Amino acid sequence: NLQDKLDRAFKVLKGQGNITEINVAETMKEIRKALLDADVNYKTAKTFTDDVKQKALGQNVLTSISPGQLLTKIMNDELTALMGGTVSDLDISTNPTVILIAGLNGAGKTTFSGKLANYLRDKKGKKPLLVAGDVYRPAAVDQLQVLGEQVNVPVYVNRESNDPVAIAKEGVEEAKRNGNNIVIIDTAGRLAIDEALMNEISAVKDATKPHEILFVVDSMTGQDAVNTAKAFNDRLDFTGVVLTKLDGDTRGGAALSIKSVVNKPIKFIGTGEKMEALDVFHPDRMASRILGMGDVVSLVERAQQQFDEKQAAELQKKIRKNKFDFNDFKTQIQQIKKMGNMKDLMGMIPGIGKAIKDVDIDDNAFKPIEAIIDSMTPFERENPDAIDAKRRLRIAKGSGTNINEVNKLMKQFADMRKVMKQMSNPGIASKMMRNMP
Ligand code: GDP
Ligand code: MG
Repeated sequence: NLQDKLDRAFKVLKGQGNITEINVAETMKEIRKALLDADVNYKTAKTFTDDVKQKALGQNVLTSISPGQLLTKIMNDELTALMGGTVSDLDISTNPTVILIAGLNGAGKTTFSGKLANYLRDKKGKKPLLVAGDVYRPAAVDQLQVLGEQVNVPVYVNRESNDPVAIAKEGVEEAKRNGNNIVIIDTAGRLAIDEALMNEISAVKDATKPHEILFVVDSMTGQDAVNTAKAFNDRLDFTGVVLTKLDGDTRGGAALSIKSVVNKPIKFIGTGEKMEALDVFHPDRMASRILGMGDVVSLVERAQQQFDEKQAAELQKKIRKNKFDFNDFKTQIQQIKKMGNMKDLMGMIPGIGKAIKDVDIDDNAFKPIEAIIDSMTPFERENPDAIDAKRRLRIAKGSGTNINEVNKLMKQFADMRKVMKQMSNPGIASKMMRNMP
């Protein structure tokens, strides 16, 4: 599946400190294949991977994340942007707001009409009216009436007429008379796009001047969904897309392609047959779904948030001058802790989550160390070398630990300082090498 493919793609990057032309090209090839498998069309996949490659090249990889994770983050951001970046709300300010529903047969128009009425009544405090505009199949009118009853929304029906334009207009008039501030017009579909259908729906549009025209499409139809979307948009210039049947393991790649081909926002997704199975479309969530990496992205984000480059530079300077002290040490501990619960953090790394499920990782591991540092005076924190035996005893008492723990920390700190100094000073390192027998 997509997850495995991405895992494999990221393996190429494992252990590399920097993202380079060669390793990113290999990875992007894998990712392009994975996207194509997830129903993203070729052109979109290519543009996307080219963009990600440009952004990734030459990026320095932060110490706390791997190149693969950084790349995931870049991809997630790019995907989110490609799908519109933010949530796109319905424009329902006009009274009454007319919403026209369009799409092929079986796409889920009637089901969505019911869901939308339910959502607007329940979540937005609106008083919707449903209009049965599919005049060709009596069963279609019945279906909408049943749904209307289920969600407690009135349905305008005219079984005498077979003129969808007239019915739509009557529906809007009915809404005005009854004080309905939303009119949702369900329409007939076709098995495929044809001229008669397009003419009919265009005529309904002209007659009712809808504020929103929502194009409903079955996400399981993959590439066909993109072609249909383009044909409908060319004729109707719709205001938004509804992706249905995204429940189960549908891959969601259609969301990416449709947005990039017609450049209209996806507003809702249908996730089941029930009236409650409707979600507002969140580009960031869909990006994670397409990447199949969910939590890795938030891990990377958290790591990046905590990584303050300026702070790091300051620290480098202090280490070089051998001025790294207990204040800095405490800041480091806090940085690590800010990233969250240790077990949670490790659990987000693919492959590790399951492995550590039953292992106890002590979140309190830093507690005694922090207590000891807290018991030092400001002078002592800045001058670790001045902490003699008498001071250590006092610190042990004050922190509720014991002299052994304080000595252990002092020793660890001294060792750490030594290593840091060596690493930050290439001169010393080479001298040491030269002095080796
Ligand atoms: P229309 O011809 O466009 O009006 O399509 P319908 O609303 O009649 O839906 C066609 C079929 O798809 C029905 O069996 C619906 O229950 C089903 N359906 C619609 N939306 C969804 C969805 O989001 N998930 C699933 N699983 N089924 C859906
Ligand atoms: Mg229908």
